[in-house]
Amino acid sequence: MQVRNDLIEQTNVYHLAFSQSFKFLFLLAFFMMGVGLVFCSSSEAWAKRERLPWTKAKTPSQGKAQSIGSYANGCLQGALALPSQGMGYTSIRRYRHRYFAHPNSIALVKKLGQVVQEKKLKLMEIGDLSQVRGGLMSYGHRSHQSGLDIDVWFGGDQNYLDGEAKRRLSKLKRKAKQKKWSSKKLKQMRFDVIHPSLITGWREKIDHKVWSKRHEILLRLAAEQEQVARIFVHFRIKEQMCKIYRSSEEFKTKPGPLWLRKLRPWYGHHQHFHIRLHCPSDSPECDDQGPLPKGLGCEGLTWFSKIEKKERKAAAKKAEKNREQEFAMFSHKERAKMKAERKLKRKQRAQAKAEKRATLLKRCAHLAP
Ligand SMILES: [Zn+2]
Repeated sequence: MQVRNDLIEQTNVYHLAFSQSFKFLFLLAFFMMGVGLVFCSSSEAWAKRERLPWTKAKTPSQGKAQSIGSYANGCLQGALALPSQGMGYTSIRRYRHRYFAHPNSIALVKKLGQVVQEKKLKLMEIGDLSQVRGGLMSYGHRSHQSGLDIDVWFGGDQNYLDGEAKRRLSKLKRKAKQKKWSSKKLKQMRFDVIHPSLITGWREKIDHKVWSKRHEILLRLAAEQEQVARIFVHFRIKEQMCKIYRSSEEFKTKPGPLWLRKLRPWYGHHQHFHIRLHCPSDSPECDDQGPLPKGLGCEGLTWFSKIEKKERKAAAKKAEKNREQEFAMFSHKERAKMKAERKLKRKQRAQAKAEKRATLLKRCAHLAP
């Protein structure tokens, strides 16, 4: 009997606790909804939700071609589709539906393709451009939003494909069998052999089994085009181009050849390079990136290396630890005040960023699917 009473008692306690916590949760949810409604309009989450529908657009918008906003926060009106094949180029990975761009970008691909054909170089492989109405993609890129960014795969040359690639492929086949890779994984790995990285090893050196004269010609050719603002490449590729041209006459001119200045070191970008066009003159709502930094940009390139990145991270961690130790010496009241100040600053920064995004999004609202 006692046991049973205990059970009843406990059940009642549970019931009470449950109903009270349920009430609390209900009130909390209601409160959060209210807070959400008030604050979401300027929050990061709102901006993200508003931007992702760009992946759902199926057709280009009506109207004259216009690049709107910035490369990493914009959209595209009246996009053109890049044909799957053309003189000197082929468009790859079309299942990603990112073969749309501003007509200036399409014209540039065609122009480069023509020169590639004239020079009897291997077909240029064009990767992602933009989505059909631009905007943020669900994976893969932050930029490519306004129809002015073009990825071109370096690809291996015939020499590489006939020799080194065959060796790598047979090694891959053996490994796939051993490790029982799925056909999807094997396909991806095969793609990476045919479109190899130009970089090898933990010191991120140029892979001379892959690097070729064609890569050099292609980079220079693209960078020489007037409408090209920047080209993003791995820092070793920039370094390699600086090395090749260091003893040339044009290198000695001030401020150096513009085309070489346009090659900008960035993370990744060792399997493909990324061409960025200037804003079209008849897209008044397009935000350009601003001028190139001064100089040729051939110095201090290892700043982008994995090794130095790791060192910076370690140094920042150490500095943070020191700050915490200093912080601990203040009184409780002072610490609380400092914490509140930091929190406020963080909040203000986030709000300013979200507002900037929201303003830009309004310019694209008429294109949203
Ligand atoms: Zn890119």
